[in-house]
Amino acid sequence: MAECLFCRIIARKAPGRIIYEDEHCVALEDINPQAPVHILVIPKRHVDSMTQVTAADGELMAHLLLIVNRMAKEKKIIDRGYRTVINTGSAGGQSVYHLHLHLLGGRPMHWPPG
Ligand code: 5GP
Ligand code: ZN
Repeated sequence: MAECLFCRIIARKAPGRIIYEDEHCVALEDINPQAPVHILVIPKRHVDSMTQVTAADGELMAHLLLIVNRMAKEKKIIDRGYRTVINTGSAGGQSVYHLHLHLLGGRPMHWPPG
């Protein structure tokens, strides 16, 4: 799956509003935002989903979470709070099979999620 949607956006072969990039990941504005702030933090290396993550990916996963925090700080929602979501598989609501962390904020979040 070298040419999945997010791989193409990361390679600039498809359009996307990338607001942050480093060696390991990008942060992308979601095309269909579910909150005033809705950012996807995506590893550059293609990983289908959480089910493919192993202990060898521990550093990468920690890095992705730290970038979520950094984006929350930049978007000025870190003090109010925000939600981090990883949808996994069809019952988990995953629609793009390239691992990504959703950062949602700028409004109160509800529980339980739908
Ligand atoms: P999932 O449902 O897999 O957890 O999340 C996929 C997310 O990717 C959805 O929130 C959806 O709006 C977003 N998305 C789908 N296609 C595109 C696209 O072409 N560009 C951007 N920026 N986001 C997309
Ligand atoms: Zn991919």
